[in-house]
Formats: sequence, structure tokens, C-alpha cells
Amino acid sequence: MSILPIYVFDHPILRKKADIINSIDDSLISFIADMKQTMHYADGIGLAANQVGSPLSLTVIDISPMTGYEQTKPLTIINPRILYYSDEDTDYEEGCLSLPYLRDTVIRPEAIQVRFMDENMKEHTIEADGLLARVLQHEIDHLHGIYFSDRLSSIRKTLMQNKLKKISRGDISPEYDIILSNGELITFQEED
Ligand code: ZN
Repeated sequence: MSILPIYVFDHPILRKKADIINSIDDSLISFIADMKQTMHYADGIGLAANQVGSPLSLTVIDISPMTGYEQTKPLTIINPRILYYSDEDTDYEEGCLSLPYLRDTVIRPEAIQVRFMDENMKEHTIEADGLLARVLQHEIDHLHGIYFSDRLSSIRKTLMQNKLKKISRGDISPEYDIILSNGELITFQEED
């Protein structure tokens, strides 16, 4: 397994709509394992394939590090489709491995029904609410080229402009390797 660099704002692949996966082979299985390892290494609870440079409709989620969700199993989500959104909205402060150091409150539907396939191409339809619904919506947004920052009010977006520019310039140093909007790789240097 290997830890992959994470593409950050505003690399073009993060604006691309993901491609449907038609078949699963060994190389995809090993890529999924790499994605999970990368997500855990970077202390994320979700990671979409385009965040590690792949155009595929694939995301991994593991919310078990969060208090109260220790029993929640990790998920591999292929070709997801949201079938239903609840009328009720909630707000929650989100972050994103592709937007290091940026957090803001995002309003989203409280519950969803989503259909996807797992790494055995077995189809699932699940109802999710709370944190799982939140992370699923965030990751499925990535597969449509959408950042959580796109969902903020125009005032909040304006306030975020300078921070977003800093990220795209590489004027940040998260504790994982990143790929900037121009394709440049910045490796994380541990301080002694
Ligand atoms: Zn994200």
C-alpha cells in the first residue's frame, strides 16, 4: 500500500465530473486500499478519487474516528447516486483535505437515501442521517466537481477568497503531501 499525495484547490481534476466505473480489477482494488490508507494518514473521514488524481466515481468513508461513531464500518462507495433528500436541513462545520486549514458551516439536508456499489460490485441502497449523511454528501459533491466552499453564501465565499488563493499558490503546509493547481508536488517535511 502507499500513501498518495492529495490534490488541493484548484487543480482542474477537482472540478471534473467523475467517470462511471464499469468493472473492478486488481489494480482498482489496490488503489482503493491506497485511498483508505491515505485518508487515515491525513486524518480525514472521507476521500474522493479525484482528490488523489483519479477521474473515477469512487469514494471511501470512515467516520469511526469521530466520537460516538466508533462502531460505524468504513465504506467503499462506487458510482453513488442520491435518490432522496430529506426536507429538513442541518448545519455543520466542514473541512476538506483539498482545502487545508479551511473550515466553515455548511447547510445540507439532514438525511439522504443513496445507492452505490461496493468493491465487489454489489449494489446497496442505504438511508443515512447525521454525520454519515453529511460526509456522503460532501464526498459525492467532489465526484461532481463541487467543493464545500461552493455551497456557502456569497458573503462567506468572498471572505474565503484570500485563503483559497493561498492554497492554490501552495502557501500552506499541511501534514501530508499535496499537488497544487499547477501540478507541482509539495512533500511534507517533518520538523526535527
Ligand atoms: Zn473534501
